[in-house]
Amino acid sequence: MIYEYKIQTGKRGFYSITEEVKEAVAQSGAREGICVVFCPHTTAAITINENCDPDVVHDLTVASDTSFPDKRDFRHMEGNSAAHMKSSVFGASEVFIIENGKLVFGTWQGIYFAEFDGPRTRHYYVKIIAG
Ligand code: ZN
Repeated sequence: MIYEYKIQTGKRGFYSITEEVKEAVAQSGAREGICVVFCPHTTAAITINENCDPDVVHDLTVASDTSFPDKRDFRHMEGNSAAHMKSSVFGASEVFIIENGKLVFGTWQGIYFAEFDGPRTRHYYVKIIAG
């Protein structure tokens, strides 16, 4: 079972997709299994982080900008090499455990679509493997 979602992003930032992924798991009817959340873009990512204090994802944006600044030496013609690097570091996917029909989370964990080169219309996929 695969679910596709569309998301409209701003310039940069982390967008919570936790509720959408939880709904996909509920809709699937899977009681136990694996859930993969996948981002098919090279300047965005999927990541897990704190779901309580919104300053945490703000700080992730600040820290990733500091860690991967734009450099004049970059060759990529599109001019968004820093966004490509952030995408690789954060990663294109996350895997979750489904137990008793629900995602297994730590207390403070949420799922985020990370935009590094918006604004854009983006997509992500949720694949659920029951068993
Ligand atoms: Zn590019």
